[in-house]
Amino acid sequence: MTNTFDISPLIRKNVRELTPYQSARRIGGKGDIWLNANEFPTAPYYQLTQQTLNRYPEPQPEQVIKLYANYAGVKPEQLIVSRGADEAIELLMRAFCEPEKDSIIYCPPTYGMYMVSAQTMGIGYKAIPQTENWQLDLPNIEKNLENVKLIYICSPNNPTGNILNPDDIKTLLNMTRGKALIIVDEAYIEFSMQNTVVSWLENYPHLVILRTLSKAFALAGLRCGFTIANEPIITTLQKVIAPYPLATPVADIAAQALSPENISIMQNNVAGLNKQKQKLIDDLQTINLVDIVYPSYSNYLLVKFNSSVPVFNELWQHGIILRDQHNQLGLNNCIRISIGTQTECDRLITALRRLTNEEISYG
Ligand SMILES: *Cc1c(COP(=O)(O)O)cnc(C)c1O
Repeated sequence: MTNTFDISPLIRKNVRELTPYQSARRIGGKGDIWLNANEFPTAPYYQLTQQTLNRYPEPQPEQVIKLYANYAGVKPEQLIVSRGADEAIELLMRAFCEPEKDSIIYCPPTYGMYMVSAQTMGIGYKAIPQTENWQLDLPNIEKNLENVKLIYICSPNNPTGNILNPDDIKTLLNMTRGKALIIVDEAYIEFSMQNTVVSWLENYPHLVILRTLSKAFALAGLRCGFTIANEPIITTLQKVIAPYPLATPVADIAAQALSPENISIMQNNVAGLNKQKQKLIDDLQTINLVDIVYPSYSNYLLVKFNSSVPVFNELWQHGIILRDQHNQLGLNNCIRISIGTQTECDRLITALRRLTNEEISYG
């Protein structure tokens, strides 16, 4: 008998080879200023009202669906709620892609989970890089549609902060009609709500929109996200989702967060954060170490430094934790900075000023 037994031959090949997603929390750091996960910098306060934890929850909590449908301007039949938008990214693959046969397309630099989910599921993935100004490379996508069932695009795009040209999204939708689903990840849409493509659903049966309570609603810890699409897609996702995807306390708090009062509080918070963002842009532009502050339609800034690695490491040492993007495609010397509170932004600027001075005094 032996109690050492190598399980690795038992692991699925694609999982054995998998590098897991480097979430901000997994990377760690001993910070007191966390500007690396695009979280909202302050927490809303909610109390649990449901005391029925002996019972299983509703599979799709009716109140949450009704309130979100109302907020998004769609019918309840056009919605499914899941454990964050991340779960939805994977549900789509589970429902639409044959492992070892079908592929997805994603367009780097972008959110990492599209690729990681495809790898986890044993589904092919094709990276079609964005153009130099971070727009869709439509001719290249068109050439690569074979066996592709899902195309993930992100607008506002994480980590670049820009929005995709709406005419390009329409061209993409027309190019893929009857061939593939187009998934528009709108995790950050509340920070520039006029850019949502929700109203296009009536014209495009293959359009899917991802939303979340993790960013503007300040509820990343709740794990609650939404998929908006026409009914045949939603019905298909219902077939593959776990029987009880949302815990009772999650549904309880989500329903409170989606009350008209709390939605208008969220909208005020977003307006405040967008002002804070403008101030941070202005302040960053006075820092010598900064090359470019890119325009942002989201709650974070992509900033190009003349040399990002020492800046990132120095700030990390001082407890200011940002998100390094230096190794992402086309993002040399870039760091992503989530918009924090005024105090947090000021401390960042103070630290950057000090670094600039030290650099000058080193000669
Ligand atoms: C944060 C984020 C998500 C994940 O949202 P959750 O609802 O927290 O799972 C999805 N897409 C993008 C682009 C994100 O930045």
